[in-house]
Amino acid sequence: MTIATINPATGETVKRFEAIADAEIEAKLAKAQQTFESYRRIPFAQKAQWLNAAADLLEGQAADWAKLMTLEMGKPIQGAIAEAKKCAWVCRYYAEQAPHFLADVAVETDASRSFVRYQPLGAILAVMPWNFPFWQVFRFAAPALMAGNVGLLKHASNVPQCALAIADIFRDAGFPDGAFQTLLVGSDKVAQIVADDRIKAATLTGSEFAGASLAATAGKAIKKTVLELGGSDPFIVLDSADVESAIATAVTARMLNNGQSCIAAKRFILAEAIADRFEQGLIEKFQSLKIGDPMDATTDVGPLATPDILAELDHQVQQSVQKGARALVGGAPLDRPGNFYPPTILSDIPIGTPAYEEEFFGPVALLFRVAGIDEAIKLANSTPFGLGASAWTADDAERDRLIEELQAGCVFINGLVKSDPRLPFGGIKRSGYGRELSVEGIREFVNIKTVWVK
Ligand code: NAP
Repeated sequence: MTIATINPATGETVKRFEAIADAEIEAKLAKAQQTFESYRRIPFAQKAQWLNAAADLLEGQAADWAKLMTLEMGKPIQGAIAEAKKCAWVCRYYAEQAPHFLADVAVETDASRSFVRYQPLGAILAVMPWNFPFWQVFRFAAPALMAGNVGLLKHASNVPQCALAIADIFRDAGFPDGAFQTLLVGSDKVAQIVADDRIKAATLTGSEFAGASLAATAGKAIKKTVLELGGSDPFIVLDSADVESAIATAVTARMLNNGQSCIAAKRFILAEAIADRFEQGLIEKFQSLKIGDPMDATTDVGPLATPDILAELDHQVQQSVQKGARALVGGAPLDRPGNFYPPTILSDIPIGTPAYEEEFFGPVALLFRVAGIDEAIKLANSTPFGLGASAWTADDAERDRLIEELQAGCVFINGLVKSDPRLPFGGIKRSGYGRELSVEGIREFVNIKTVWVK
């Protein structure tokens, strides 16, 4: 894949970048290693000051960062502004909390004194996707830098200007050169970088294929990985639910980021008793969404990030329709420049179709009808994924069963699945392993050292 900014709303190539040569990769790895030796000893208070300065830059220039994100991957500008501000939040959160999360923990044993100490590992490689081009990076970088690690970013090839801007933000905030560097390289260089002795661990957010490939290389070299991969989150609505509020949330849950979110609600599992009402409400709301220029603050749905994503989504929809699924709204790309796909709803989805089996990474809602909670949970758990789940009910017993039995890294009752710095985030099954955010996130890339003193 070429490294370039290509405006998804027009198809225009705005700027191309040369991948850096092997000599420059080598120099950046050396710089990371050298920086770590001193950076690891920098006190929390200093690192927190730099991270808060990064938060100031993110907030102060949120509109500029947002334009860059929208230009490169097409998210509606309001969402992009919110993303920049959320990055500031995660920076401030870890600036404040890291000293508590990583303080020594005393444990009583037969020793005169025993405790757990958390120490940094070294240079961590982050391989990141384009869909939340700032957020995915900051949610890795804020805890990693507070822990005393240094970061190297291999960002997705279609968001190079975001990648460079993020490295600038950390530098301008005061972090030492080498604490956070961007590597403009294609995915073909990732294995070589992961295998390098100076890289101590790696995290990847993206597809199953990329995650498996990175983890295989890291596994050979006995290096820890965290993987945040795909999802096909269920959105279950049971008889007792507040259906109107479920419909309103469903629209956001499916359409956020033009439908390109790992934790978007993708499969809507509806109890028969409320299914007609929900379906009708969703159709009306989807039809009222404004599709258009993502730079326009009134746009609800912009283009998909690349022509390949559009082609793949269209293929999945066409295959599903050919095999018996029904398109209630949408169902084909829009005839205009850019990668525009309209809000789409598929129902009557047969087993064996892409709509039944696969992740749909775009603005397509998949509707399923079930008799009640037993069937809902069974269908929800019937995919290889296990990232998030949203479930709607007013019944306490049903709520408790949903919390207990849904196979997912998170369950949100009567609400939208979202990430929050204060709560751990991650998946099970083929959605990946490990956690980001919260105390769990910052303890992924540290040496949890046991200390025992006689
Ligand atoms: P992708 O192709 O896997 O790309 C993600 C990153 O991995 C990019 O930097 C990409 O680089 C790199 N990459 C691609 N192939 C690789 C390989 N063989 N070895 C090492 N690195 C490789 O992902 P995508 O299709 O753009 O993103 C969508 C997927 O990400 C969806 O499945 C979505 O659900 C998932 N996702 C998950 C989360 C989460 O938190 N769980 C969040 C967002 C997205 P290039 O761009 O250079 O190819």
